[in-house]
Amino acid sequence: MTTFGDREIWESWGAQELCFQGCRTCHALQHPPGRLCSSCHGCEFDGVAVSGKAALLAWSVVHRAPSPDFADQVPYTVGVVELAEGPLVEVRLLAGNPGSEKVDWKCGIAVEVTLGYVNGRCVPVARPLQLTTISTGTDTESR
Ligand SMILES: [Zn+2]
Repeated sequence: MTTFGDREIWESWGAQELCFQGCRTCHALQHPPGRLCSSCHGCEFDGVAVSGKAALLAWSVVHRAPSPDFADQVPYTVGVVELAEGPLVEVRLLAGNPGSEKVDWKCGIAVEVTLGYVNGRCVPVARPLQLTTISTGTDTESR
C-alpha cells in the first residue's frame, strides 16, 4: 500500500514543504515516487522533508517553449540535481533575483533546492549557493 505517493508529494509541495517519498522499511528516499521501494521492495512510505542541499548534475537552457504556457518564460534553465539525501530531481534553475546576471552553471556546483511557482504550480527550484556570474557583453545566442 502506497501511503505517500505522487498526489501527496504535490500536496506537500503546494504547502511549501519539500518532501519526498521515504521507505518505511529501509528509510531510502526515492523520486519519482513508486509503488515499491527501489532499494528493498517495501510498499509503505512516509513523506520525508529534505535539507535542500544538492549538487547540480546536468543543465540545459530552453529556448523554444514546449507549450504556449511557457512562451513568455524562454529562455529559462532547467537542471537535474542530486539531493544530499540521494534522490535526483528535475528543477528550474534560478540565478537569484529576476534580471540578475547570468550564472556560470557548472556540473558539480552546490545548489540550494527550495520550492517556487512555475505556471502557478509549486515545483522544486534551485539557486547556486555561491553566485558566480559571468559578464557576457552582448547575447549572441540564436533563438
Ligand atoms: Zn525500502
